[in-house]
Order: sequence, then structure tokens, then C-alpha cells
Amino acid sequence: MLIVMQAGATQAEIERVLARVRELGFTPHPIPGRHRVAVGITGNPGPLDPHLFEVLPGVKEAIPVSRPYKLVSRETHPESSVVEVGGVPIGAGHFAVIAGPCSVESREQVLAAARAARSGGAQLLRGGAFKPRTSPYAFQGLGRQGLELLAEARAETGLPVVTEALDLHSLEAVVELADCIQIGARSMQNFSLLREAGRAGKPVLLKRGLAATLEEWLMAAEYILSEGNRRVILCERGVRTFADHARNTLDVAAVPAIQRLSHLPVIVDPSHAAGIRHLVGPLALAGVAAGADGLMIEIHPEPERALSDGPQALTPAEFAGLMAAVQRVRQALAPRAEPAVVPSGAPGQPS
Ligand code: PEP
Ligand code: MN
Repeated sequence: MLIVMQAGATQAEIERVLARVRELGFTPHPIPGRHRVAVGITGNPGPLDPHLFEVLPGVKEAIPVSRPYKLVSRETHPESSVVEVGGVPIGAGHFAVIAGPCSVESREQVLAAARAARSGGAQLLRGGAFKPRTSPYAFQGLGRQGLELLAEARAETGLPVVTEALDLHSLEAVVELADCIQIGARSMQNFSLLREAGRAGKPVLLKRGLAATLEEWLMAAEYILSEGNRRVILCERGVRTFADHARNTLDVAAVPAIQRLSHLPVIVDPSHAAGIRHLVGPLALAGVAAGADGLMIEIHPEPERALSDGPQALTPAEFAGLMAAVQRVRQALAPRAEPAVVPSGAPGQPS
């Protein structure tokens, strides 16, 4: 149920609606809009009678919401959301690039990668300190020390840090030292982690699970929003298919499809979709052309020495080249500005 308040509804009228929702045993979620406030309701086991709320003063209408997710839905929040990460806005026309190594390996490596990210034009730094690895014998990340190195790289370059929390234990350290909590593809349905990230007070980058439908992905985001954290960015990173020419298959269609269903920003990670360097650029450009609100790209100062995902890491020079191409695609897509003044006497104009 979505309760839409009248444009001139008073604060007291809004409070009364919130109190009524609580009285019925459900949770109200006020959603401020440009013109009016709406109130989403969660916790109701089934459909509610709209009249329960339409009788209250200041209420314009109460609309039953058909989607199983509410807070992430465009039905409840028609305007695209802007999510700020360390002061960098993402979404609703704000485009941002997150770049950095797969894993934080050493001070020199992460500082070199951070400098390359900044000089290439990225606005945010990535780097895994707690790594989800398929093999328990593979490099698992430097843990807290990795987060401290990321914080040092942020202090030098000014780039806010996005890094993965693998579990409740690593979440605590990530919240303390980073600017954005990444929830990885393998953790997309770790519901206790999602809930805790919802209470953490930091923005969350939620990757799509390896075989998640859009509804499952949005329900995962709903967990975070239902805990009161509206700052969620979705990240399409490729899904598992029969294709064996790439690590995963980038679902480009997911970008406009999600944008139709949800107000949350959606970015594309071409690196984990590609798995191999030469596919990263084309997939990144495809994501931008499909309307992504940003990109997450793995880079490494010396990819051949990387402890994880070296084959898909771009060199600093390759990253800078890709960023230039991204700019060209964005310019080509930008709505063409109408000439502000039509010169008098121009052909076809009455003089
Ligand atoms: C990552 O970005 O570091 C990562 C492990 O990605 P994913 O969760 O998409 O596999
Ligand atoms: Mn990686």
C-alpha cells in the first residue's frame, strides 16, 4: 500500500497517517517527493483496504502496490534517486566511475592504482580487503590492513572508497573505514548481511547475484531499504549462462529494465562480466550506451603480478583510453541542446 498525501498536507496530517499505520501493527516509510509526501507500508501480510487511510485528513489516495518490493519501486518513488558516496553523487543523470584493483595487495600497489584511477578520471576508488574467493587456498585479502591502506589511498587522492563486506564481522570494519559497503554477487541473498547493511548508515553497492532474476535482486535491495537505508546503488556484473567466451554474460538489458522498475541508480561492472581484458572496454561502452549511471572497473599497475583477477585488470593506460571513449559515448547520448536564441531573419522564421 502506498499512501499519497495531498500537495499541501501538513506535518501533523503526515504524523497522523504514520501513527495510524503503526497502530495497525505495520511499519510506515515516509517518502519525500518534490511535490508531495508519500508513505509506503511494510509488514502487512496481505492487501489492505485503501479506505483505512483515505478517510484521514490530508490523504489524497491510498494505492495498493502490486510489486512484492515497495521501497525500491518506481511506483512508490517515481523520481530517480541520487545516492551520494563520500560527496560523489550517482544516479538521476550523475554518472560516476569506480576504479581500482580487485584486491588490495600492498601499499605501493594500492597507491599506484588509486593514482591511476584518479588521473584516468574515476571519482571513486575500489579494492577488496575481504575477498570472496572460489578456492579457500586462493589469496583471501589483507583484511583490516587492506582497509587501512585504502584509507591511506583516499587521503592521498581524495577518492572515496568502495569495498566489500563479506560477513557481519568484516562489515563492522568496512563501515568504520570505508565510504560505501559493497555486497558481492555471492552475498546478494545473505539476508542477515543485507539487514545489517541497512542499519549501517553508509551507502551500499549491491551486486546482482550470479543467477538472480531482477525481482530477486530488487527484493535484496528491499531488505536494505526496509531497515531505513535508502542509499543503495545496484551493480550489474554479468550472470551465469552457457556462454564460455566470457567469465559471465553481461545482461545489458537489465540496465533499462531495472530503471523502469526502480528509482535506484544502476551501474555496470564490465570486469567481472568479461573476465578477460579485451572484452572489458566494449562491455563498459555497451553499459554506458544502455544508460548505466556509472561503471566499476578493475585496474592494476602491473596486471601480470596481480594476486586476483589479473587477466581482467586494465593497465593505467588502458583505463585512461577507455575513459576517453566513455566520454565520447556519453556526449553522443547527451540530449542535443536547442539553440537558445533563433537569429532574427533566419530562414523559415517570420521577420
Ligand atoms: C568484486 O567486485 O570484487 C567482486 C568479487 O565481484 P562480484 O561479487 O561481482 O563477483
Ligand atoms: Mn575481482
